Amino acid sequence: MRESERKSLFWQRVNRQNRGKGCWLWNGSCNKEGYGQLRVNGKIVKAHRYAWEILKGDIPEGWELWRTCLQPSCVNPAHRVLKQRRCSLDQRIRKKIAVQRSGGCWEWTGRLSRGYPVIKVDGRPVTVHRIVYESEYHTSLERRRIFRTCSSKLCVNPAHMRPGKRKRRKRRSLDIQESRAAVQRNAP
Ligand SMILES: [Zn+2]
Ligand SMILES: [Zn+2]
Repeated sequence: MRESERKSLFWQRVNRQNRGKGCWLWNGSCNKEGYGQLRVNGKIVKAHRYAWEILKGDIPEGWELWRTCLQPSCVNPAHRVLKQRRCSLDQRIRKKIAVQRSGGCWEWTGRLSRGYPVIKVDGRPVTVHRIVYESEYHTSLERRRIFRTCSSKLCVNPAHMRPGKRKRRKRRSLDIQESRAAVQRNAP
């Protein structure tokens, strides 16, 4: 199959709503985690990586694409960020986890801050939940909060977490306040 032919077949299996902004959902086959996949020259390739390579270029060795939206099957490159693999950090975290027999919680045995698991990254304490969730699902949570679905405050098992809505930008609410104040100032 020619390259151009393969690309046009690829885009036929993508639902590009809004063209630019929304999620571009893959209609083809998916793996068990819900990520799209296709066969290129006899090899299985992830659909979001293929889309990135078509539109943005090669993914450097040792780097991964992390999602910033909630749809694993989304192939919109605007919803991915390039991140360097962090094996050493993952190992440091793994050493401090005690898997519980009942419930499958991953109990943190390391440092705590206000009762929550933290680990130092580049000299700054970072909450372990977020790191574990992000690296497990290759997701960049950005301003999204994360909630636990089990009752252990020390649990860092990503299967026991779910992401919530994005926090609103502070600036936006300030803008609203400012415009309200302006309306009040101008009111008769
Ligand atoms: Zn998306
Ligand atoms: Zn748990």
